[in-house]
Amino acid sequence: MQKQLVTIIVPCYNEAQNIPMLVEQIEHIWESLRDRYDYELLFVNDGSRDGTTALLSDLQRKDFRIHYIELFRNFGKEIALTAGIHHARGDAVLLIDADLQHPVALIPRFIEKWQEGAEMVVGIRSDNKGQNPIQKLFSKLFYSFTSLAGARYILANTTDFRLLDKKVVQEFNRLTERNRITRGLLDWFGFKTEYIYFVADKRRFGKPGYGYLKLLKLAASTFVSHSLLPLKITGYLGILITLVSGFMGLAILVGKYIFHDRYFSSFTGPAQLAILLVFLVGIILTALGLLALYIANIHAEVVNRPMYVVRHKQMS
Ligand code: UDP
Ligand code: MG
Repeated sequence: MQKQLVTIIVPCYNEAQNIPMLVEQIEHIWESLRDRYDYELLFVNDGSRDGTTALLSDLQRKDFRIHYIELFRNFGKEIALTAGIHHARGDAVLLIDADLQHPVALIPRFIEKWQEGAEMVVGIRSDNKGQNPIQKLFSKLFYSFTSLAGARYILANTTDFRLLDKKVVQEFNRLTERNRITRGLLDWFGFKTEYIYFVADKRRFGKPGYGYLKLLKLAASTFVSHSLLPLKITGYLGILITLVSGFMGLAILVGKYIFHDRYFSSFTGPAQLAILLVFLVGIILTALGLLALYIANIHAEVVNRPMYVVRHKQMS
């Protein structure tokens, strides 16, 4: 039986201290898999400024299973992963962080689930030792919001630690959007997915490349690209304001000038002006909401996601 090839993709941004140990751990764990699977290690050097570059070229010369791609500058993990997936040749692709936060010991279980028929195997972080309570709170809030906003396929605590079947890789390579969260896109397809829970260890050496600001930006962009809710809310608010203030304005006009009611006559000129202004603001917000719908259509056309994903074709 021919052995299957697993491409292990490792995005690296200043990871020179972690890489040797990662390589060693993978080599070690593969002892139990080598009869049925080969692996190739594909490092994506995302513009590192420590010794990562030299280290990778050194490793590559010593071990034929090790390859690397070097990006021109730091493009961020999402793009680095994408570049890796584009260049993978394996029957399956495994994404793993360089900093040893994703336990290498679980790799055989990912492969096992894949052999049992899962098209994607996703690691879910049940606890992250490197996260402080504030980060945990933010991550909780974020997932509640995206799920409320309709992007229910984005599950809480899923990570980039995942295995993709070749089929998934092929579909993924058709995506053209630039501003991307790799795992959000992968989840969007709806491939047959299995989950593996793990506890993320502390990062071994070095600092996480994602500071608070970067994380916030990432959250905002995920939210915007997977949900229309913020835009729609504006429109709904506009409709509400227009209706309420319109009704009030009408009541005042009719009460004051037609029925000369005492209560309605007490609304002074400035008060009426205020209501008129609020009414106009309502109309503007409604128009914004409408505009949003048009923009949403344009957005959908521009990101050019495949309209459908075929699972199986049976044609004679
Ligand atoms: N990474 C990258 N480019 C970046 C930032 C990070 O390729 O701009 C890599 C990094 O080397 C690591 C993985 O992405 O292998 C996860 O990064 P990090 O540990 O900083 O993030 P976290 O653990 O907080 O998700
Ligand atoms: Mg990390």
